[in-house]
Amino acid sequence: MNKPEDAKTREQLLPYGRQWIDEEDIAAVVNVLRGDFVTQGPAIAAFERALAERVGARYAVAFSNGTAALHGACFAAGIGPGDEVITSPITFLASSNCVLYCGGRPVFADIRLDTSNIDPDAIAGQITERTRAIIPVDFAGQPAEMDRIMALAKERGLVVIEDAAHALGASYDGRPVGSLADMTMFSFHPVKHITTGEGGVIVTDNDTYYERLLLFRNHGMTRDPEKLLANDGPWYYEMHELGYNYRITDIQAALGLSQLGKLDRFVELRRSIARTYTEAFAGMEGLVVPYQHPKANSSWHLYVLRWEPERFRGTRREIFESLREENIGVNVHYIPVYRQPYYRRLGYDAKACPNAERYYESAITLPLFPKMTPEDVRDVIRAVRKVYERFAIL
Ligand SMILES: *Cc1c(COP(=O)(O)O)cnc(C)c1O
Repeated sequence: MNKPEDAKTREQLLPYGRQWIDEEDIAAVVNVLRGDFVTQGPAIAAFERALAERVGARYAVAFSNGTAALHGACFAAGIGPGDEVITSPITFLASSNCVLYCGGRPVFADIRLDTSNIDPDAIAGQITERTRAIIPVDFAGQPAEMDRIMALAKERGLVVIEDAAHALGASYDGRPVGSLADMTMFSFHPVKHITTGEGGVIVTDNDTYYERLLLFRNHGMTRDPEKLLANDGPWYYEMHELGYNYRITDIQAALGLSQLGKLDRFVELRRSIARTYTEAFAGMEGLVVPYQHPKANSSWHLYVLRWEPERFRGTRREIFESLREENIGVNVHYIPVYRQPYYRRLGYDAKACPNAERYYESAITLPLFPKMTPEDVRDVIRAVRKVYERFAIL
């Protein structure tokens, strides 16, 4: 029997992202649970070494989550009261909150409408004598224009902390993300490329940042005999900075190490699904498929389809809700950060960045994760076509 006209595309909601954990990952975790260390043991250093090597960095310091890692990077960079740090408004809250944690002021530079990444010209326009750092975000997995951003930072003496929560496995100009900025953050939240449940990391080549990140993650305390100011005996430790307990566990690190071995396959699958989407939507007037900068090789955390408002008779909200009715777990990434009530209370303008506003009006994130089946991908395409037919002004 044929499906009735008004049947939903799917019986069950397809989420926009989710983890892929297999028996090998589970065995790696169980192995740690049976061993001597569930935290502060050898699995953490093993994960950090493998990760640093994979992304072309000298050091990696794993944290309890990506937000804590960004906080650590701002601390390592010396961000404090009176300092300004430039970031993108189209990002998750953590990219700018990390500046607030340190008493600094986030400054939002507008995005490019094609890539949805921060615009290096807009960054240049926001630099003042107070600017200390730039936090570019590799939105959706596509690296920001790191060559131009690094050149600008060098010229103006700024630190660059790349928020690559979306971009593990991506590259720019043939170089892996992780080897481009002064410090780079990756997140291991379950919707990201690999997961540790919660988790994050900073990678860097810089010895001073590395030492400061280690201190910050562990209460600002050290037992290193070369750094101690005094030494009362073998039990002795000293606190040199106000740090936090931002440690990851060995249980998580074992999962992360096992997941890292699958990264190449995960990224390949994400790229393949993105290609299928783009081929399916490319000819549909009014839909804008994600533009790729010629130097960027995205690892495709998100697939954001833009619905040009003047080409549809429904609002973005109606289109979004119609896709959800088809049980497609669409999402919106992101609400421009300066619009948040907390930021408004700090005095930020609710319409500060015109391109970010224009982007936000039209963006809908489609499901994209490596464990999606070909049927899942077909369902998404069918639902988009169905909703498109309903709302497009042709
Ligand atoms: C996920 C994410 C973070 C924060 O990572 P957590 O591990 O969830 O704390 C920061 N920035 C961006 C852009 C993210 O997507």
